[in-house]
Amino acid sequence: MIDYQTLTFDYARCSEQTPDAQASVRPVVVVGAGPVGLATAIDLARQGVQVVLVDDDCTLSTGSRAICFSKRSLDIFDRLGCGERMVEKGVSWNVGKVFRKDELVYTFNLLPESGHHRPAFINLQQYYVEGYLLERAQELPNLEIRWKNKVTGVAQRGTPGANDAHVALEIETPDGPYTLLARYVVAADGSRSPLRKLLGLDSHGRTFKDRFLIADVKMEAEFPSERWFWFDPPFHPNQSVLLHRQPDNVWRIDFQLGWDADAEAERDPERVDYLRRHLAAVLAAREHGAPVQGYFTWSLLDNFEWAEGYASRFGLVHVDFDTQERRIRDSGRFMASMARGAALEEAAR
Ligand SMILES: Cc1cc2nc3c(=O)[nH]c(=O)nc-3n(C[C@H](O)[C@H](O)[C@H](O)COP(=O)(O)OP(=O)(O)OC[C@H]3O[C@@H](n4cnc5c(N)ncnc54)[C@H](O)[C@@H]3O)c2cc1C
Repeated sequence: MIDYQTLTFDYARCSEQTPDAQASVRPVVVVGAGPVGLATAIDLARQGVQVVLVDDDCTLSTGSRAICFSKRSLDIFDRLGCGERMVEKGVSWNVGKVFRKDELVYTFNLLPESGHHRPAFINLQQYYVEGYLLERAQELPNLEIRWKNKVTGVAQRGTPGANDAHVALEIETPDGPYTLLARYVVAADGSRSPLRKLLGLDSHGRTFKDRFLIADVKMEAEFPSERWFWFDPPFHPNQSVLLHRQPDNVWRIDFQLGWDADAEAERDPERVDYLRRHLAAVLAAREHGAPVQGYFTWSLLDNFEWAEGYASRFGLVHVDFDTQERRIRDSGRFMASMARGAALEEAAR
């Protein structure tokens, strides 16, 4: 089985970097090889368009990240030629349940009719989605992927709309910079898009203000493949919790912390408490016969959070982003004591 989270891809010099390169204008350059960039590049290449896809990194994503892919997304993956793999690997589900405390209050079925080609949703870790898209992209001869090619500048040349109008992208590589010309450029470089910033096109919208703690738990359990959502559950009072089953016996649990949770002052004591109670529940499940094989805490270090960038902190280790100084939090010490074999209550002291 391929571990898509650890794959790395080689940087290679491209034709524009040869000393006597002729400046040719590429029909389309897609910036960013995340799910959006890969899907766009495949779609264009399938229609006969020559595409260059550049990414500043050389890996796929890690951690489950986006996991729920709807029927509409599956239709698109089918069109791109990789829907079948996604559905085979993913956990299909149609039914969701909503609990208040311990009580089931609502059940919904997103696909009550029979005969549909695809389920309402599949759950599939983002690294599989990216891996399958990438493998599909690599089959297309008119799609060139350039890793470790970072866009650092963008300029319009000629009058927009005119026949010779094009875009000049400045690209930084391990071998130094070069210029890439394109008739059209697609900015698929993520929510913090540097390309949009370079163009002064910051997106304006409303932020859904909340904070979540996301855990991927590896556990063999026979719970049904349904989405479970709790309001005010006994194991996380006054907040909500969302549970999704993923492939490879990974269970994704999203814990709401509250929009005004102060990451520094408030999170960690609560987190020690949460980890203590959560691990107690995991141990109890094991005692009742669930073959638990491991538990992974998201995350070891403070890092980039998908909606709030670096503002949200959820590491066992605090990172000062200016100095890169790292400081183990109480939750980190708690997990270290557990790893050394301490009993739960002893570790939480
Ligand atoms: C912890 C976590 C949990 C999440 N959970 C969910 C979830 O439950 N549901 C959900 O829908 N979404 C979730 N997300 C968000 C989801 O991961 C993103 O919405 C998704 O990755 C967006 O895809 P994208 O292709 O637009 O951008 P990205 O995946 O961000 O890809 C952008 C790519 O552009 C590249 N790039 C950036 N700048 C440059 C540059 N200057 N030059 C070249 N390349 C560049 C980057 O290296 C990257 O590969 C989560 C994210 C995180 C981090």
